Parts: sequence; structure tokens; C-alpha cells
Amino acid sequence: MNKIVLKLGGTIMTLFLVVLLPLGYVANQIFTNFYYSQVQEEIGELSQKYARTITSLEDETIIDMFKNLAELTNKEIYIIDANGKVVADTGIRIANLTDEDISQLEEGQSIRKKFEDSKAGRTYLGSGHPIIKSNTFKGSFFVLASINDVQEPVQKIRDLLILSAVGALFLALGFTYVISKKLSDPLLEMEIATREIAKGNLDIQVNISSRDEVGSLGKAINNLALETNRYRSNRRELFANISHELRTPISYLKGYAEVLKKGLYQTEEERKQYLTIIEDETERMVRLINDLFDLSKMEEGKIDLQMDAINLIDVLDTALLKVRIELDQKGLMLTSNIDRSVPFIDADGIRLEQIFINLLGNAVRYTEKGSINVIVWNSENKVHVIVEDTGIGIPKEELPLIFERFHRVEKSRSRELGGTGLGLAIVKNLVEIQHGTISVSSHVGQGTRFQLSFPIAE
Ligand code: ADP
Repeated sequence: MNKIVLKLGGTIMTLFLVVLLPLGYVANQIFTNFYYSQVQEEIGELSQKYARTITSLEDETIIDMFKNLAELTNKEIYIIDANGKVVADTGIRIANLTDEDISQLEEGQSIRKKFEDSKAGRTYLGSGHPIIKSNTFKGSFFVLASINDVQEPVQKIRDLLILSAVGALFLALGFTYVISKKLSDPLLEMEIATREIAKGNLDIQVNISSRDEVGSLGKAINNLALETNRYRSNRRELFANISHELRTPISYLKGYAEVLKKGLYQTEEERKQYLTIIEDETERMVRLINDLFDLSKMEEGKIDLQMDAINLIDVLDTALLKVRIELDQKGLMLTSNIDRSVPFIDADGIRLEQIFINLLGNAVRYTEKGSINVIVWNSENKVHVIVEDTGIGIPKEELPLIFERFHRVEKSRSRELGGTGLGLAIVKNLVEIQHGTISVSSHVGQGTRFQLSFPIAE
């Protein structure tokens, strides 16, 4: 038995009893009073009628007629004369007729009360009326109904009331049980599910059977399991990627260091070549580690930005200057169409430069011949930048994936060209935390175009 069933059940049952008990009491009271007053009225009317119609207190036949009438109506009668002497009765003796009662009757008033039978020790509801003939008090006529006759039907009604109350109570009990189970079962299931999630069993899902708050809690738990699962596989993939990325340069370092140590080279030139490889690989490892560190900080939202209203053109100029040497080395052209009067944007200068250097670096890296083109202009509330090249391009199906970390279109080529596979992931993160947007379009063999937009500073 769980606690909700007990708590809810207890509350409902208490409420039920609080309502039912007084209601039952009142119903019982109403029925009893109704029955009593009905009988009381009946005997009242009878005794009044009889007292008026009786013509003689001495005539035996008349008295017998009234006795017969009483028997037919299942009532008792009791007649006394003006001196209080009993003239006739149907076998009962009224024990508690007081002087007060007598004098009330003598005054012409009727009385109504419970009477005791002295002989049988039974109680009767009774009504007495004075017999008045030609303005003189001749005696009193009493009609009585046994209280048992009244109590019997009342008892029957009471039994019925109790029976229906017990029935209702059981119904309510069953109802409460079903309702509380319906409420608590999903909660218990959720408890088990969250325990499983905590243990790392993330494939678990709870059944959603209702659309209320309990249902939304279930949905939230399912979501939690799903997200944690995604996070876990993401992390697993990341670790696999990192170790893979580190393994390659380290094996190069180890291999060439060994070659140098054992003197396995013929010429001085060869030796220098090996040293250059070691230097390049070390440099790449440093870059990789720095990029990873940056990315993890960005993904956790822990990167500190020095936001300022800045001139994007100045930042772009610095970045262009930095890639100029590589550009010239590869014999690529740089063309530009820059509107130098674009408004300032809100950004972190260093981070903005990192974005441009990554994009320009990629453009140079993946372009063999042709040119790199940079365009800057502004629309109503944004400054737009395009960085495009006439390089190898990116296949259409790869476009949605290139912003993911470690995703490369051609693994070997990127490695050969010194890429870490993190550049675009960093770019996208940096653009977004500076409230900008980035999109890409590309054609294999023709070139690639990245477009950025940043809101104008207020
Ligand atoms: P990488 O360090 O490998 O360049 P990035 O995250 O910067 O990593 O880019 C992801 C991949 O997207 C690259 O490996 C490359 O295949 C592709 N890519 C990025 N920029 C360009 C470009 N300008 N032209 C063609 N391919 C590109």
C-alpha cells in the first residue's frame, strides 16, 4: 500500500463521513418527526370525531360500536366520565393521567401526550378530547396508538438509511482506491525511472497516460533521459575524437624523434625535414589543445566577452593582414568590396578577429587557384560580411555538418593542410554568442561562401 492511497483515501473518507453522518442524522430526525406527527394527527382527528359523535356513555351497544371501530383502525380507545371513572377501554389502563389533564379537558380543551399503560408497561401516543353535551362536560374520549406501531416503520426507514450509507461508503472506498492508484502509479513509475537514470540506464522511458501535471512531469523525465543520453554519447564521441586527434601527431613525434636519435638519415637536409615535421606537429597539437579549451568554455557558456561598440572593418583589416602571407605564398588574389562607412556593431574585438581568421584561413587552405573575395555592407539594422573563395567547395550533403566539431569533408586533406576540425565549430559558437548569424553555401569545384550578419550597436 503506498502513501498517496492512504492519504488521499483518508481525506476522502473523512470528508465523506463528515458530510454523511450529519445528513443521516437529519434525515432520520425528519422521518421520525414526520411519522410521529402523522400518527398524532390521525388519533387527534379520531378522538375529536368520536368525542363529538358519542351520544351516551351508558349504552353498552354504542360503547361496543366504538370498540369495534378502534379495532378496525388498529387503535386503542379509553373513555372516562366527568368524575374520571373509566367507562370503557380496549384493555389498556392509562397510568399517567394527571389532575391537570382532567381539568384541561373539563375546560373543553384537548390534550396530546405520551401515555403509559400501567398493566402492560407499554407506551402509547394518545389524544384526548372532552365529550360535551348541551354545554356540560360529560367525560373524555381518548384514542391511542401504540408507540411500537410508530417505531416499527421508522426503524425500517432507519435500516434503509444505514444500508444505503454503508453501500455509499463502500462505493466511495472503491472509488478512492481506484483514483489514488491512478494518481500514484505513474508517480511510482517515475520514481523507479529516475533511479534508473541516476544509475546510468538512460534508455528508460515512462508511460505517459494523462495530459495533466503528472503527464508533463513524465514527459520532462523522458526528456531528461533523452538529453542525458545525447549528452553522454556526445561526450563519448568527443573523447574518442580527441584521443584520435592526439594520437596522430604523437605518433609522428615519436617516430621522427626515434629516427633522429638513431641517426637514420642520410643528409643534413633530411634531418632538417624531420625536425620541421616535429615542429609542425607540435604546433598543431598546441593549436588543437587551445581550440578544444576555447570550445569547451564556449559550450559551457563560460567565455568572458569584452563587448564593445566596434568598427568591424578595422578588425577585418587586421585579420586580412595576418593571412596575407599565406595568400601570397599560394599565389591567390584578394578582391574586396567593402563599404567603409558601415555602422559599429556590439562585439568582442579579439573574438571577432578569431572568426575572420578562421574563415579566411579555411578559404586559403581549401583554395588552390583563383581568389578570395570579401564583401561588407549594411542593411537597416545589420552589418553583413561575405567571405568567399574559388576553392574545392563542399558537397551539398556535408554542408549541414561542417559546423560540428571534428567534422571534416576529407579527413586526410584537412590534416595535410594543418586543420584541426574545430575551426568552424568555434566560429559558429563565437558568432552566436555575439548575437550574430552564419550561413554557408557552396559548389564542389567552384568555391564556398560564408555569410555573417551582426546587429548594429545601439
Ligand atoms: P578544419 O580544421 O579541418 O579546416 P573546420 O571546422 O575549419 O576544420 O572546417 C570543417 C571542414 O569544412 C573542413 O575540414 C573542410 O572539409 C570544410 N571546409 C571549411 N571551410 C572550407 C572552405 N572554405 N572550402 C572548402 N571546404 C571547407
